[in-house]
Amino acid sequence: MAGVGGRASPGLKRWLSSQGLAPRVCVVGSGPAGFYTAQHILKHHDLARVDIYEKLPVPFGLVRFGVAPDHPEVKNVINTFTHTARSDRCAYYGNVAVGRDVTVGELRQAYHAVVLSYGAEDNRILGIPGENLSGVYSARAFVGWYNGLPENRDLKPDLSCETALILGHGNVALDVARILLSPVDLLRKTDITDSSLAALACSKVKRVWLVGRRGPLQVAFTIKELREMINLPGTRPILDPADFTGLGNAVKDAPRPRKRLTELMIKTALEKPGEKMVAAAPREWGLRFQRSPQEVLATADGMRARGIRMALTRLQGLGDSAKAVPTGEVEELECGLVLSSIGYRSLPLDPAVPFDSQHGVIPNSSGRVEGVPGLYCSGWVKRGPTGVIITTMNDSFDTAQSVLEDLQAGVLDVSASRDGFGTVGSILRSRGVRPVSFSDWEKIDAAEVTRGKAAGKPREKIVDPEEMLQLIGH
Ligand code: FAD
Repeated sequence: MAGVGGRASPGLKRWLSSQGLAPRVCVVGSGPAGFYTAQHILKHHDLARVDIYEKLPVPFGLVRFGVAPDHPEVKNVINTFTHTARSDRCAYYGNVAVGRDVTVGELRQAYHAVVLSYGAEDNRILGIPGENLSGVYSARAFVGWYNGLPENRDLKPDLSCETALILGHGNVALDVARILLSPVDLLRKTDITDSSLAALACSKVKRVWLVGRRGPLQVAFTIKELREMINLPGTRPILDPADFTGLGNAVKDAPRPRKRLTELMIKTALEKPGEKMVAAAPREWGLRFQRSPQEVLATADGMRARGIRMALTRLQGLGDSAKAVPTGEVEELECGLVLSSIGYRSLPLDPAVPFDSQHGVIPNSSGRVEGVPGLYCSGWVKRGPTGVIITTMNDSFDTAQSVLEDLQAGVLDVSASRDGFGTVGSILRSRGVRPVSFSDWEKIDAAEVTRGKAAGKPREKIVDPEEMLQLIGH
């Protein structure tokens, strides 16, 4: 009776609903993984109730705090999540940090099943000298800053230099480069925060290098994001044709997305910009390949970044699995701003939950946490911090399917009733924690939309959690 392709079959759905049992499920985290897991369970079990706990007062995880402000169409998934949250069998409890305000053990006592969907809130570090100099930031913090993530609201990145260097060749790196180089008029009508817009308007950055350890065939960004960079008004690409020698032939039989992406890089590298184009493009960006960062170099006073020393590499092996091996040569590049975009990283939440620190994931099989029946995981904390929202949706449906199957197989004992938020609410009250409901969020949302209206923005995000709580009378 198990569903196929991540969907509950009509038979499973009928069986689950005919049992008259009302499972209580708790989801930790309100990003895409949390909401898609909740959606799938609610859709395929007519009696299940799902409570979503979120650390911040406001929902939607990286859809609000990661997706670039100039990609509003991506944020339309919020409409689907809102529909789920408004279901009378779903409740949202924001402002509750699981692991701090309530333990996973306490949640497991109160619910028949607990799904951990708390994402990847840290970043990988470079582990090189100079990483802590002023002028060096993680792309995660920079993205959080322009998107109004409370913990990064005071970042105040120093944009007084002309050259920035981004370490990494993924879509996040391209998002950051695009935000740094976009004419501010293009950002003005987005939901970028007011203060970051003001800082970007005064930015002196006019050149951005995107540096990767491997070659053009290993870049992780996708064609849409590359095309946006190539077409960015007032900006021109600098790609060295020598980096692409022979690659046209090499990708002839490659999967279509890789082939098209490589062909676009080659075409761009071969295009000779006319004088007019150079004059019309005061800003520039380029891709540098086969360079591995060794040290961030400091200014004479030892305070700030002034450049970066990189080891040149050669590739060992082919395709995605090719490894970058140092050749022994080094190169220095001047830059006053260094942004490391080498990946997000999940953190362990609670000592009671197994965690694979090497891979930064919760060990699981189809979302079932190894060795802990009744505990599940979905999204980036399940499979690592890669993949777009659709990838996260599919793996969340897969986890939800595991929950539904375990309900059917009797792995989850729903004969004993569990009180869900009844129990957790008392625990939170005793600890002085006041959760934010979804209708509270809708008040914050309405206030943000009103604030944005005057400036023609979809919203002006409130970046201070205290202000959010005051607004809803907490
Ligand atoms: P998250 O979205 O991070 O959600 C996790 C949630 O858990 C957060 O709300 C967090 O506050 C909460 N949480 C954390 N700890 C706790 C705790 N202790 N207790 C309670 N709650 C907790 N995908 C696209 O399709 N298009 C894009 O344009 C795109 N742009 C992106 C840009 C950036 C910079 C990044 C980083 C990612 C982007 N993605 C994009 C990918 C997409 O955002 C992810 O696939 C998706 O958000 C992962 O979902 P998640 O729910 O696992 O994690």
